[in-house]
Amino acid sequence: MLAVVPPPVTVRVPSKVNLHLAVGDLRPDGYHDLTTIFQALSLTDEVTVAIADEPGVEVHGEGADAVPTGASNLAWRAVQELARHVGRDPDEPKIRVVINKGIPVSGGMAGGSADAAATLVGLASLWRLDITRDELAGICAKLGSDVPFTLYGGTALGTGRGEKLVPVLSRHTYHWVLAFDRRGLSTPKVFTELDRLRDEGDPPRIGAVEPVLEALATGDPRQLALLLGNDLQAASVSLRPGLRRTLRAGVSAGALAGTVSGSGPTCAFLCSDGESALRVAAELAGAGVCRTVRVAHGPVPGARVIGGDETP
Ligand code: ATP
Repeated sequence: MLAVVPPPVTVRVPSKVNLHLAVGDLRPDGYHDLTTIFQALSLTDEVTVAIADEPGVEVHGEGADAVPTGASNLAWRAVQELARHVGRDPDEPKIRVVINKGIPVSGGMAGGSADAAATLVGLASLWRLDITRDELAGICAKLGSDVPFTLYGGTALGTGRGEKLVPVLSRHTYHWVLAFDRRGLSTPKVFTELDRLRDEGDPPRIGAVEPVLEALATGDPRQLALLLGNDLQAASVSLRPGLRRTLRAGVSAGALAGTVSGSGPTCAFLCSDGESALRVAAELAGAGVCRTVRVAHGPVPGARVIGGDETP
């Protein structure tokens, strides 16, 4: 009798921008405590998982050449971690993962993390696992601190290394313009640069998180724009001084405010509405300060199967 091979499963997964990213001092274990507010954006990756005789990872789209396709790909690590969790052989998963990237690589928008979360959701459906989203989130946390957020999406307050999440009330759809830089920035290098800047002097730190939560509850983008803040911005700009020009150009083009997204170098500009975002994007694209410009909105849901069975 022929075994029935389940059809491939495709998952869409959001990127993230940090509306607030407060970085604590370096801990003895080499990490920093973070207090952050994530928002999931409509700039997405799509990940397809399928049963295959030739296991492995394929990457297409935005920045694909810079993404490893071997065992260090976060999506592959997700396959192995889930296999281990459910008692399958992690070294022999007959799975092919095809990643279509829209999220810039090493851009501070959690692209690799997003692919890991998407792979877990896709495999849970492909293997028909009886597993909850919270159980998947536990596996996500083992893979990286931004992975749980891209699983849940929406807007959330993250603490610890960013993996302890509480959903945040957010009434409004916010409109963003994203400026991709010509090359990525390594997240560990940006944290090291922040430690260096703090050793040398005392770069200003962003304020408390509560006013940002209040602004989100009102839904007024103007109020939120005044409060966008990122302690990593000084370090990303120190490593990539051209970002100063990009940030100025977005605001001159009519954005309410601009911020470096996470560890950068992508700059995210908050706009008053969708039409304004399109105008800002067009002007920024002509200003020659970045490689590519995209518009996006948020919050959007986390990793979701598209065009089929929606479990888990
Ligand atoms: P974060 O915002 O979470 O700090 P990032 O968006 O700046 O991360 P990523 O795009 O996740 O950066 O890539 C970081 C590193 O991970 C790169 O060196 C990249 O080669 C590697 N990597 C591994 N798997 C993937 C993947 N599936 N997609 C993108 N990068 C990956």
